Amino acid sequence: MKNFRITTFATIGLFLLLIILDTITGIALWWYLLLFVVWFLVMAMGSFVLSGNFYLKAFTFNKNLKEKKIAITFDDGPNLEFTLKVLAILKNYNAKATFFCIGQNIERHPTILKAISEDGHDIGNHSFSHDVTIDFNSTENWLHEIKQTDNAIRKITNKKSTLFRPPFGVTTPKLAKALKVTEHEVIGWNIRSYDTVTKNPERIVKSISKHIKPGAIILLHDKQKNVLPVLEHLLQFLEKQNYQAVTINELLHEK
Ligand SMILES: [Zn+2]
Repeated sequence: MKNFRITTFATIGLFLLLIILDTITGIALWWYLLLFVVWFLVMAMGSFVLSGNFYLKAFTFNKNLKEKKIAITFDDGPNLEFTLKVLAILKNYNAKATFFCIGQNIERHPTILKAISEDGHDIGNHSFSHDVTIDFNSTENWLHEIKQTDNAIRKITNKKSTLFRPPFGVTTPKLAKALKVTEHEVIGWNIRSYDTVTKNPERIVKSISKHIKPGAIILLHDKQKNVLPVLEHLLQFLEKQNYQAVTINELLHEK
């Protein structure tokens, strides 16, 4: 059962208990208020913590994997300035990765998406607009966002995208409903690089390398300058440690 449903049932149960206690002995109003505040906080946390599997099941790493394999993922591209350079570095190290692309950017840079696909990397859906208000979308609007991006990927690569990463890593009941229809696998991460806030590439790689273990999924962004030195350092580290960078599909579907 989803943690969301467990929370809902538990809250209803506690609410009924409060009503019973209230009729027997009489209780202060703030007990009800407290229950509401706790419920609200748990629901909000469920939206922001993807690994909590609150509204849907998300893969954040492959815990069954024993081989030294990890997945590097890039969000928010394709990017005119950096994605092709990222592809060149990956090729140099014979590494495979997964790109969670925004539909709007795919339509702007179709040749870059084609290059990602032709190099044998996985392409995932990362919504069409990645709008800051996207998490207030209805199920219908979410379906539109996801299908528009899927169509753009299919038109250019001739491949069906089966992977989805929620923008900002936020999930909602409406998004969960939409994903039930589209049947995408939801992919999170278990190593966050903080590459959008930390400037120094060596510091970023140092913090990533501390958490590397078989089955890990690393989150990077191919929309900013530091992705190039970060990737180069990271791949050097992985090579030294005999780790192989593989696509999400290879990482998740191997036991
Ligand atoms: Zn994003």
